[in-house]
Amino acid sequence: MELKNYIAGEWVESELQTIPIMNPATGEQLGTVPLSTKTEIDVAVQAAKEAQKSWALIPAPKRADYLYEIGFKLKEKKEYLAQVLTKEMGKVIEEARGEVQEGIDMALYMAGEGRRLFGETAPSELANKFAMSVRAPIGVVGLITPWNFPIAIATWKSFPALVAGNTFVWKPSNETPMMAYELAKIFDEVGLPKGVANIVFGTGPTIGTAMIEHPDVRVISFTGSTATGSKVAELGGKHLKKISLEMGGKNAVIVMDDADVDLAVQGIVWSAFGTAGQRCTACSRIIVHRDVKEELEEKLLKEMRAITIGDGLDPKVKVGPVINRQALEKINHYVQLGKQEGATLLTGGRILTGEPYDKGFYFEPTVFTNVQPNMIIAQEEIFGPVVSIIEIDSLEQAIEVNNGVRFGLSSSIFSRNVNTIFKAQQLLDTGIVYVNAGTTGAEIHLPFGGTKGTGNGHRDSGQAALDVYTEWKSVYVDYSGTLQRAQIDT
Ligand code: NAD
Repeated sequence: MELKNYIAGEWVESELQTIPIMNPATGEQLGTVPLSTKTEIDVAVQAAKEAQKSWALIPAPKRADYLYEIGFKLKEKKEYLAQVLTKEMGKVIEEARGEVQEGIDMALYMAGEGRRLFGETAPSELANKFAMSVRAPIGVVGLITPWNFPIAIATWKSFPALVAGNTFVWKPSNETPMMAYELAKIFDEVGLPKGVANIVFGTGPTIGTAMIEHPDVRVISFTGSTATGSKVAELGGKHLKKISLEMGGKNAVIVMDDADVDLAVQGIVWSAFGTAGQRCTACSRIIVHRDVKEELEEKLLKEMRAITIGDGLDPKVKVGPVINRQALEKINHYVQLGKQEGATLLTGGRILTGEPYDKGFYFEPTVFTNVQPNMIIAQEEIFGPVVSIIEIDSLEQAIEVNNGVRFGLSSSIFSRNVNTIFKAQQLLDTGIVYVNAGTTGAEIHLPFGGTKGTGNGHRDSGQAALDVYTEWKSVYVDYSGTLQRAQIDT
C-alpha cells in the first residue's frame, strides 16, 4: 500500500522520497509512506485555517454528529483495523481490538461533549448587565503522535479538538502511518468538510518542526518521548504556542507485605509485558516489601513461563515483537547496563533468535532483581519488556522510591489495608494511581497524563482534554442602555 497525504479532503500524491512500512513481527514490507516537506505543511495549515472559519460556526452538537458517524465506522471496521494495527505495530490482536474499541468509545464520548461544552454565567458588578464565560475554539491545531497507540492517541487528541470547533493537521509516527491512513479514510467516508482534518506524513525534525513554527498553528498537542517533548516545548515556547505534552514514564507497582501476591503478579505480568513493555504506562519497576519478595519472585517466574512470544496475529501469543531493530538494540543496551550496574538477572535478558524470531524483533521478557533505586535501569524509560525489582521495608520507603524518578505517569499499589491505600494514593506523585491493579488500563472519560518529566500539566482524555483545545472567553452583555463602567466609584 502506497500511502498518500490527506490534505483539504484530497488524497495528495507525493513524488517525494518514501520509506518502507515494516511488519515488526515478520520483517515483511507492508507499503511505503511519503516523507513530506514544509511545503505540504504550509498547504495543509492553509486548508485547515480556511475550513476552521465555517467549522467553528457549526453548532457543537452538529459537529458532534460527525463524531458519532466516525465512531460507527470505527465499529464497523473494528476487526479489520485491529488486524492492520497488529501487522503494523506488533501488539497482540486482543490488545489491538481493545485499542480500536478505545477509539470508538472516545468518538461517542466526545460526541456527547458536543452537548456539554458548558461555560459559566456570573453575576455582574453592575445592574442590567450579564456576564458569562464560554469555551471558544482556538483555531488550527497541530497533532504529533507516537507509534505505540496509533489509533487511541490520535482519537484522544483529534476528537476533542474537532468537537470544540478547531481543525487540525496531524503528523503521525512513521512507524505506524497505516493506522493514520485508515483514520483519514474514515474522515473522508463520513464527509467531514474539506480541510477540517489533514494528515501529513514525514519526519519529526522536518514537518513536526514546520508545524510548530507555522504562525497559523495555535496549539501543538504532542505525545512521545520526554527527549522529543522537551525539544517541542523549547521551539513551541519560542513561538508562544499553547503546548500539551504527554511524555515518557517509569511506572511502578508497589507490593506491600499484606498484599494479595497472586493478584499482584497477574497485574505485573499484564502491565510489564503487555504490548512488549512499550506502553507509556508500562510497569518497569516492582517495589516490593522484603517479607513478600521471595514469594513474589517465585510466583512471577512461574507465571512468566506461561507467556507465549510471537506474531501477535496468533491468538495464543501474549507478547509480540518490539517496534524495530533500533528499539531491540536499545533494550539490549539497558539489559547489559543492568548487569554491569550489579543487578541480578532473574530471567530473560536476550534478543530472541532462530525460527520464528529471526525475521522480526523479539526480546525475551526480562526481570532484574536486587536493583538499587538509583541504578540507570531503575531510572530511565527502557520501553521494552524489562522490569526491575527493588526491595523496601515500609510504605514511606516505597513512596520515596516510587517518586524518586524524573517521570510521573502511573503507579500502582497492592495492599489490603485501607489506611495504606488512602495514604499511598495521596502521596504517589503520578497523574494516575491504581489500587490492586497493574499500572495500565486507563478509561477514556478520565483525564490521562502525568507529572514532572511526563507532562506539562495538560491532560488527554476526559473533559480535561477540552482545556487543551478551547480558550475561555469572557463575555459581558450590558442591557442597561447607558454606558456603565466597572471599577468606577459611584
Ligand atoms: P518520539 O518522541 O520518538 O516521537 C513522537 C513523535 O514526535 C513522532 O511522530 C515523531 O516523528 C515526532 N518527532 C520526532 N522528533 C521531533 C521534533 N524534533 N519535532 C517535532 N516532532 C518530532 O516517541 P515514540 O518513540 O514515537 O513514542 C514512544 C514514547 O512516547 C515513549 O517515551 C512513551 O512513553 C511516550 N508515550 C507517552 C504517552 C503519554 O500519554 N504520556 C503515550 C504513549 C507514548
